[in-house]
Amino acid sequence: MKYRSTRGGMAPLPFCDILLEGLAPDGGLTLPQSLPRLDAATLESWRDLTYADLAAKVLGLFIDDIAPQDLLRMTRAAYSTDVFPRIAPVKPLRDGLSLLGLSEGPTLAFKDMAMQFLGQVFEFVLAQRNQTLNILGATSGDTGSAAEYALRGKRGVAVFMLSPYGRMSAFQRAQMYSLQDANIHNIAVHGVFDECQDIVKTLAGDLEFKSAHRLGAVNSINWARIAAQIVYYVWGWLRATQGPGQQVSFAVPSGNFGNILAGHLAREMGVPIRRLVLATNENNVLEEFFHTGIYRPRPASQTYATSSPSMDISRASNFERFVFDLVGQDASRVRVLMDELRQAGQFDLSALKPQFTDRYGFVAGASSHADRLATIRAVHRETGVLIDPHTADGVKVAQAHLEPGIPMLVLETALPAKFAETLIEATGEAPPVPDALRDLGQRPQRVEVMDCDARLVADYVRRHAL
Ligand SMILES: *Cc1c(COP(=O)(O)O)cnc(C)c1O
Repeated sequence: MKYRSTRGGMAPLPFCDILLEGLAPDGGLTLPQSLPRLDAATLESWRDLTYADLAAKVLGLFIDDIAPQDLLRMTRAAYSTDVFPRIAPVKPLRDGLSLLGLSEGPTLAFKDMAMQFLGQVFEFVLAQRNQTLNILGATSGDTGSAAEYALRGKRGVAVFMLSPYGRMSAFQRAQMYSLQDANIHNIAVHGVFDECQDIVKTLAGDLEFKSAHRLGAVNSINWARIAAQIVYYVWGWLRATQGPGQQVSFAVPSGNFGNILAGHLAREMGVPIRRLVLATNENNVLEEFFHTGIYRPRPASQTYATSSPSMDISRASNFERFVFDLVGQDASRVRVLMDELRQAGQFDLSALKPQFTDRYGFVAGASSHADRLATIRAVHRETGVLIDPHTADGVKVAQAHLEPGIPMLVLETALPAKFAETLIEATGEAPPVPDALRDLGQRPQRVEVMDCDARLVADYVRRHAL
């Protein structure tokens, strides 16, 4: 299995070589040269596997330069009951509508699912190569804490995580900034998430700086994360069906298009997925694309701070991987579109619009603050279950796309404890906080506050890199 770039300018490389890189050298994103296929018999033979063992099977399709027994050891460590007391449970809400519980890990958000594997595989590959790596990333909340919890104390890795100052919940801040491990560096930038991401892109795009400081990425463009996310679509399908060929739909609260991209790939691999329901909040660039065929990211000044903050994203960093498939895997076409995007601020694929649903199964909808509150309240009243604001966006949009006889799994992307303010506004009560996190708010915090300037960040990395 070799990997290529969506822009066609990279010699094919094995998994372990792309693992430690961010963008491909031509500015594109990496993808497998060809996608493995899953037939019905293979899927049926996986029904009784534990999550960790299923993960080793699925990831083994994408990783052939790590021995299967090493991979299995890593997935068993990443998905142990120490890390995930429960792993990806299906939680029924009402007939035909369930949550897929992806937020049972240390940071109470779905990003732990991929990141815990990434922590294992980074440490393994770095030790094997006798290398060090400095992770530079940007987070609007959950990526940062998931990365830090997966990499804290790991040998050979340091983390430099940029976050938008004052735009995360108190819980998210406490979660990240309370880590005292020497290899974890939190940098709060005066700006929005997209500006943090721009700084990361600038520094990672400076090839001299990048190689001098051995920069790597764990943002959602990292292929290993996408691969690890494919696992829970297979798992969710296995849990929601009894036999071959039965279809399931997934609803996905979306921001950077990483989570739902994994669903797209699972579907392309042959998992019987009917609809991929993309849910956005008020930052509805992706919803607009699926309704019009025009992709028009917005500037930072038009990116709203909402009550589902992890989806406050106006440029979806993984979208190019889907565009690559949409244009028939024609890398030169992708290059033209990305040039157009840079020059005109948008591109137009409306000619392909009929394929979005018919060929690829995508439908989309948006949710507002009022929708979020109403959905949290209604789900709580009807079922007794508390959901977080992001999951509420998913449930809101999923409800418009329910079909008789087709189970709908809404990906539960965070637990309500992370977003107490909104939960109180919706229900009048604070959500329960897991015992292990009761004293989180009292723990001392460690964070570097900086102006929105790539040079300041570069300077800090220079002084603290491994
Ligand atoms: C990251 C995140 C999302 C968005 O996922 P993408 O992969 O960026 O589309 C949604 N909800 C929560 C809680 C998140 O942390």
